[in-house]
Amino acid sequence: MPQTPVRNFYRSDPLLGHLLHRSLGAEALQVVEPTLDAYGALCAGPFDREAWTADRLRRPLLLAFDARGRPVNQVLLHPGFLETLHRSCRMGIVAINYRPEVLGRRLPYTATYGMAYLLGHCDVGARCILSLTGGTALVVSKYAPPPLRERFLPALTSTGERSIAFGGTFFTERQGGSDLGANATTARYEDGVWRLYGEKWFCSNPGAEAALVTARPEGAPEGVRGLALFLLPKACEDGSPNRYTIRRLKDKVGTITVPTGEILLEGAEAHLIAGPGEGIRAAMEAVNFSRLDVAIGSLGMLQRALLEATAFAQGRIAFGRRVVDFPMVRETLLDLAADHAAGMALAFRALQAFDAVHFFGEGDPLLMRLLAHLAKYRASEVAVEGTVRAMQVMGGDAYVEESPLARLVRDALVMPIWEGTSNVQAWQVVRLIVDKKAHGPLLEEAREVLRRLPPTLQKEGEAVAGEMEGLERAIAMAADGGWGEAHARHLTDYLADVVSAALLLDLAGTGPLGRRLTALARWFLARRLRPGARRTPQAWALHPGPFWEEVAGP
Ligand SMILES: Cc1cc2nc3c(=O)[nH]c(=O)nc-3n(C[C@H](O)[C@H](O)[C@H](O)COP(=O)(O)OP(=O)(O)OC[C@H]3O[C@@H](n4cnc5c(N)ncnc54)[C@H](O)[C@@H]3O)c2cc1C
Repeated sequence: MPQTPVRNFYRSDPLLGHLLHRSLGAEALQVVEPTLDAYGALCAGPFDREAWTADRLRRPLLLAFDARGRPVNQVLLHPGFLETLHRSCRMGIVAINYRPEVLGRRLPYTATYGMAYLLGHCDVGARCILSLTGGTALVVSKYAPPPLRERFLPALTSTGERSIAFGGTFFTERQGGSDLGANATTARYEDGVWRLYGEKWFCSNPGAEAALVTARPEGAPEGVRGLALFLLPKACEDGSPNRYTIRRLKDKVGTITVPTGEILLEGAEAHLIAGPGEGIRAAMEAVNFSRLDVAIGSLGMLQRALLEATAFAQGRIAFGRRVVDFPMVRETLLDLAADHAAGMALAFRALQAFDAVHFFGEGDPLLMRLLAHLAKYRASEVAVEGTVRAMQVMGGDAYVEESPLARLVRDALVMPIWEGTSNVQAWQVVRLIVDKKAHGPLLEEAREVLRRLPPTLQKEGEAVAGEMEGLERAIAMAADGGWGEAHARHLTDYLADVVSAALLLDLAGTGPLGRRLTALARWFLARRLRPGARRTPQAWALHPGPFWEEVAGP
């Protein structure tokens, strides 16, 4: 069974503590720090061991029917995995955002995401189910009518004093997850209750006690505007099983501890949360919550890969030298550390925007959405690339299942897919930029950060400011719909690089952490923004259209 290179993922990560301090403030951090500390030790110990065991030993088991053929829709999870879920809830991973009595005061979502980051180091499957539960709780608390909220929120935010309910978001259908407007599940109002008919194709945690489901009430318009959002309980109010069948569990490449199933809705009783017009907006609140969770969980995975690769490279000898002393290995580790630090700076800015909207109720929703897309896009991509590169640093020993890298690499692959593919994140970024000008406040903030930099970082600040001009030109070009759509990923990368660079420079300073971040900021700039490192928008201007026609021909 793999051993972790450190005993506590919270204590070994001063950047996390620093960012939490900046975001939450000293007082709130003091309240949650003992929890984070204990959680960091659990993630580097028992949770990691249970995740490895559950991944190796047994996939979740679907008991669709009992021995007499009656539907039961039970999904059996590995006991260790279940314990990770329950213990996380008992420690307040969902509850602290809602219930002041858990830690003495309600805490912003950033505190919960701090725990999700630590869990990402060891068990991204458990993180998924807890994130779905947090997203469900958020939507129920904000949008559900009071009787529904009172019925479900206490269980979704339980710390064990009552039976804990886990959530889910069942939106994707067989015909596609990106285009939810094509959802074909229908909702009918029959004898005083809403009933759902249709098929949901990817349902993580299909045994959820309460899941959000998109469906189109009969007669509602086509497209996303006609979608309503419902809460689907596992059991009806009288305790009888609801009318749906988990047809099968997917046989997945990674995240195999978390069950992902297909569900047939056969007149399932559901509660209306938001009708057509509002439904998609409410559904997207849960998706944005999970997008940020994917971002922060991806960075937890990258940090774990970095810890493992660094420990290996320090101990391994080749050609009479420590592997860590080879310049090419150092370059790889620096790339990973710089991507991690820049990703953290961006993700925490996104969390701040999320809290401003959802916790303090005074933020800019467009800026929050833009940052959620950017952070998810960037963090999930660097997690895939970074875990693979960390595996290469460790050579063959990392390519066996006894190594934590094997699971990290397999699990990372889904990060750029679920909660919207990277293409979809990028396309949404361009839409928010072109249609809503959502980037304005973000670029202004980056400029302000650059203006405030100390003289020692003037050169770096000027380099980023120069790139901002290039970025603005590229943004202006994106107003041409065809060009913007074709180059959405280039533009999103450009925006993510420039904004992350500014945010990372803002963290640079003195003291051991400040000096480390200064070096990482310089490395990040040299790698991503030095002259020639980035192709100019003119070089993107080859629209694939005409080439594709030639290449795809017979
Ligand atoms: C392990 C796992 C668990 C999941 N759990 C859930 C869950 O619990 N609930 C849920 O609702 N869904 C879940 N999903 C589904 C997931 O959200 C979708 O897979 C994802 O949104 C992509 O949808 P799709 O797979 O249908 O691909 P499609 O939407 O068919 O996309 C196919 C390709 O087209 C590209 N594409 C689509 N639109 C555009 C565009 N506008 N511009 C450029 N390219 C585009 C995509 O990037 C992709 O490459 C899960 C998926 C996985 C793998």
